[in-house]
Amino acid sequence: MLPDYLPGAEAYSDQKDTGLKEAMFQEETPRGIMCRICPNECVLKEGELSQCHNRKVVKSKLRTLAYGNPCSVNIDPIEKKPLYHFFPGSKAYSIATAGCNLACLNCQNWSISQTSPDKTRNYSFSPDKVVEESIRTNCKSIAYTYSEPVTFYEYAWDTARLARSAGIKNIFKSNGYINREPLEKICGVLDAANIDLKSFNDTTYLRLSGGKLQPVLESLKVYRDKGVWLEITNLIVPSWTDKYEEIKAMCNWLVKNGFSENPLHFSRFYPVYRLEQLPPTPLETLTTAAKIATDEGMKYVYVGNVPGNEMADTKCPHCGTVIIKRTGYRIDFNRTKDGKCLTCNRPVAGVWQ
Ligand code: SF4
Repeated sequence: MLPDYLPGAEAYSDQKDTGLKEAMFQEETPRGIMCRICPNECVLKEGELSQCHNRKVVKSKLRTLAYGNPCSVNIDPIEKKPLYHFFPGSKAYSIATAGCNLACLNCQNWSISQTSPDKTRNYSFSPDKVVEESIRTNCKSIAYTYSEPVTFYEYAWDTARLARSAGIKNIFKSNGYINREPLEKICGVLDAANIDLKSFNDTTYLRLSGGKLQPVLESLKVYRDKGVWLEITNLIVPSWTDKYEEIKAMCNWLVKNGFSENPLHFSRFYPVYRLEQLPPTPLETLTTAAKIATDEGMKYVYVGNVPGNEMADTKCPHCGTVIIKRTGYRIDFNRTKDGKCLTCNRPVAGVWQ
């Protein structure tokens, strides 16, 4: 059962005078208050709204409008994130507030990502309630997802800390556009992440999403170094991110930087938001990209958003047996035990128990 809807941006708070929680990682500068959470590093004056639409300076402090007021609450299969090597077949209690620090032309969730919590219909849902509900509904994990958890950092941080102490796992589905210090901090309570690597071309990154490539690459390294289980998604958008030489360069970088055992999901684009005029990604483009990735040395390569495709199955990288068979988000069989292939008894990368 879901909690009641909240009016507007009202949120759980320890800030009695404003009704809004103070933001973390804020710093006073001569030009205004700077948010140091993501590379946008917004500098805001009294009353100004951030680029991510959910932070504002009120009474001389940067405050989050996105605390305890998710606009989306669902129970999802973990495969939907997608996370294929992290407790397959389990359920993730999934929450999102309005707001995002990027502005992708192809955003599937633009109606919540490109707006502010005072414009969405929100639930009243404190961190302890989220944890309680995730336990009550037998979810293995809580996923901070759909919009961008980097921008509801304080809510995710408080919830994730409580979840961890209750034995619930924490998952970020994120664009990876976050500065090192806040990322290192939240990695202390995260168990897994799926990060969008949108392109391997800096100009394309900027034009398609409004962000830069390098900070995302740096984030991947932090997740790796902090021991958070990591899977990577690359959405192939026709005429934008379907250049094979860039896909090859991306996979080459991933292998060289120690990500060959991290699953790579090539995801099919469907016409949406500001790219409605484009066709869906041709299947041949996706399968060619998958072959390039495998040839470069990526061990677990998937094609997603394509119903009934065999490239959603997990094959043992040692003996080639199909060890996890999937239909959509459903697991048809799982032939692993204790993280090992049941056929050849060799390890399969991931978090299985
Ligand atoms: S998290 Fe939001 S407020 Fe902070 S720097 Fe990024 S876009 Fe600006």
